[in-house]
Amino acid sequence: AVVLVLLMTVGCSENASVPETEGQAKDIKDIKIGVSVGHTQEERWQREIDMFKAYADEHGFELLVQSAENNAQKQVSQCENLFNQGIDVLILQSLDASAVAPIIDTAHQEGIPVISYDRFAMNCDLDYYITFDSYKVGVKQATFVTEKAPKGNYIWLKGAAEDNNAHLVAAGQESVLKPYVDRGDINIVLEQWCKGWDPNEALKNTENGLTSANNDIQGVIASNDGTAGGAIQALAAQGLNVPISGQDADLAACQRIVEGKQTGTVYKPLAKLNLAAIELAVALATGQDPMTAIDSSLGEWTKLNNNFKDVDSFSVDVIAIDKDNLYDIIIAQDKFHSLEDVYKNVP
Ligand code: BGC
Repeated sequence: AVVLVLLMTVGCSENASVPETEGQAKDIKDIKIGVSVGHTQEERWQREIDMFKAYADEHGFELLVQSAENNAQKQVSQCENLFNQGIDVLILQSLDASAVAPIIDTAHQEGIPVISYDRFAMNCDLDYYITFDSYKVGVKQATFVTEKAPKGNYIWLKGAAEDNNAHLVAAGQESVLKPYVDRGDINIVLEQWCKGWDPNEALKNTENGLTSANNDIQGVIASNDGTAGGAIQALAAQGLNVPISGQDADLAACQRIVEGKQTGTVYKPLAKLNLAAIELAVALATGQDPMTAIDSSLGEWTKLNNNFKDVDSFSVDVIAIDKDNLYDIIIAQDKFHSLEDVYKNVP
């Protein structure tokens, strides 16, 4: 009877796009999960890799991690390498949303399901997507800045054009900015993508915006904390301190918030996203029902379209942080950073 139950569990996956696994349910100790990240530039990614490793160590399974360090082609070959090493499931943080379809195709030829992590793999037969709501991130960012600076000249720094999240964030920002721009209250003097989410690109773009507006800038919409850091450097060089947004709750950004140099950030509870992804991966690898694998307190299932199909997606909520709630959420509640670290530069 036990064998029968196990076989039935394996055979009744509700998701038609998950490739057939080769047969029997596996013990968690026998599984191998692969993680491929496009880069580890922002501090969040290394933290997330460490969380995956801690989970794997605790549960006694093998975790193989590869980072392509900003080379989309390298990401493809690293994933092939992971498939050759016999992984059961791939967790994929893609570098270039539109260039990863071959990874998913090859995975499926090998019978390996793929979970997109944080960044959507577009135009392909993706199995699952675990994410934050990036549109909402953009809405919160533009709200911070427009509340503080409802009129004036703006610099609008978008993320990396090859990252689908950057487009969602920008769409969220635009939904807030548009009425201000239509009324003539806000004038966008520079609107620019920041290649690779690179802080130096943000710095250069901000310098250009400042030059064309003769330093007459009242607000900056920055799409993450890294690019906010670059923009703040350019502003400070001109003696300016204007409302500016970010995302990720990077330590440097939290320090800037308490020092009054950055208006706010959008905190994304990485521990929840990470746990959701690894719980799903383990379920797929061990032949459990994926749709009940993730603890429901972490977020909710939804369907998101990647221009190829509606993908079963799990969404984790985000929180707007400014100097008023930073202590409560980031330090006391989630222990995302310590009090000592955040207030290091504050006398
Ligand atoms: C993530 C952000 C991150 C950015 C740069 C985006 O896809 O959603 O959290 O700051 O990539 O790594």
